[in-house]
Amino acid sequence: MLKGIAASSGIVIAKAYKFEALKMEIVKKEANAEEELVKLNNAVAKTIADIELIKEKAVGKLHEEELAIFDAHLMVAQDPELISSVENTIKAENVNAEYAVDQVANMFIGIFESMEDEYMRGRAADIKDVTVRLKANILGLVIPNLGTINEEVIVVAEDLTPSDTAQLNKQFTKGFVTAIGGRTSHSAIMARSLEIPAVVGCSEVLEKVNHNDTLILDAVSGEVIINPTNDQIVEYTEKAEKFLLEKEALKVLKDAESITTDGHHVELAGNIGTPKDVDGVLTNGGEGVGLYRSEFLYMDANELPSENEQFEAYKTVLESMNGKRVVVRTLDIGGDKELPYLKFPKEMNPFLGYRAIRLCLDRTDIFRTQLRALIRSSAFGKLAIMFPMIATLDEFRKAKAIFEEEKQNLINEGVAVSDSIEVGMMVEIPAAAILADQFAKEADFVSIGTNDLIQYSMAADRMSENVAYLYQPFNPSLLRLIKATIDGAHSQGKWAGMCGEMAGEPLAIPLLLGLGLDEFSMSASSILKARQIVRSLSFAEMKEMANEALNCSTSEEVLSLIQSKVKI
Ligand code: PEP
Ligand code: MG
Repeated sequence: MLKGIAASSGIVIAKAYKFEALKMEIVKKEANAEEELVKLNNAVAKTIADIELIKEKAVGKLHEEELAIFDAHLMVAQDPELISSVENTIKAENVNAEYAVDQVANMFIGIFESMEDEYMRGRAADIKDVTVRLKANILGLVIPNLGTINEEVIVVAEDLTPSDTAQLNKQFTKGFVTAIGGRTSHSAIMARSLEIPAVVGCSEVLEKVNHNDTLILDAVSGEVIINPTNDQIVEYTEKAEKFLLEKEALKVLKDAESITTDGHHVELAGNIGTPKDVDGVLTNGGEGVGLYRSEFLYMDANELPSENEQFEAYKTVLESMNGKRVVVRTLDIGGDKELPYLKFPKEMNPFLGYRAIRLCLDRTDIFRTQLRALIRSSAFGKLAIMFPMIATLDEFRKAKAIFEEEKQNLINEGVAVSDSIEVGMMVEIPAAAILADQFAKEADFVSIGTNDLIQYSMAADRMSENVAYLYQPFNPSLLRLIKATIDGAHSQGKWAGMCGEMAGEPLAIPLLLGLGLDEFSMSASSILKARQIVRSLSFAEMKEMANEALNCSTSEEVLSLIQSKVKI
């Protein structure tokens, strides 16, 4: 049995599907040019057929623009210049075909990557993709592809990027286990929004699990059992059924009010990554979207998404939420989230570097395009916008001024625009938490991002399992920062929300309620449980408990205080 971190709850039993990046060693060999040319020819034909097949399977699942990526790949695979350069290398040097492809590919990739134009730089990724497939086909190797899984499996991987996770087909992927990551890594967050059971940070999983082993994934306790006994299968099948029954029972609360026993209302909202996730928020009784991570729009693309593409996505979400508030966070890229088509400076500490609002205030072209798309979408629902990673008032003012300029530009162009767009900010940096009262004079609301706020308060990388013990949502130091933020917002008559993972943690909810939090935004699958908890508590009692917690000295003390006062 292996132990990891339960990242998205559920219990499932299925065969392991090991998803490992293909390791290809390309060595230069002397070879017969005639034979290598035949190999190359066959591999090109197979590569074209592979891409056509992938495209065929994706039709209906992906949008037009996403499907166009495969057309770009087909063009590369059939590009006469590329192919003839490889043939010439084989003939001139009498070398093996995969080596010749590698050489030519590297040359073309280098040329495209150094181009000024972002679109052309994006082509380097296409060439890389296609030539990896071509080399694999020459060598007779198979490229693993999550999108082609067609039987029930549990995916086992080192890590899954957000786009890997987005490709997962829920019908067949019953769960996943990764070797790295923590509760707030993006693969974990995506798993929760897709409602796929997941265990992350299970460091030995790749060594211990073989492809096709039977696995029990207990993503409630964070355990993975390899090749279980019959008794274990019976035991866990029962556990899985019980888990599903409890989940089902919570559904009666879908339309119930989020109100304490003494009449205090809060708002329970959902976090989403793509328009597809809205469904989960609504079926789980979400009262709004408290965080739309707009960066997934950028990460699932091969180039910067256009104003229109973005407008369509935001409009879809606003319309589907039917008048309920949708808080869209502007582009939060950098840190652990890079874009293959955008050059990022090499930095020692990317989480402390050029990311989120810092990047947007530098690349105002990107920022303005997004704001225009957002403002245009405001006519279709109740839109709120928030800026990520705000550290100083000056940053907030600059971002808001650009927003106002773009809004005025659109009005001048005659575009319909809502006059009640709220403009707020995330509080993810201790400096902003402490100064929240000043920020709240100018921001319409604040939303606390505990995933980052904890990593910055504790100086502990949220991606590292080695320092995962410092992810301490119950540490009194963090509670004081949260209190300063909520009190700061309230002192200016503004609302305070939380969209970090802490907002959905059953034991944190009583405490946050007592601290006065107005809005809790979480993974859709946590909303109903949260409502059940809120409805069982007295606001007056939770306020008292929160005051006591602020005077505790350790996380453990806070946790035992909560456990002594509430039964969850
Ligand atoms: C956070 O930092 O708490 C947050 C909600 O943002 P993200 O997890 O996307 O960094
Ligand atoms: Mg964050």
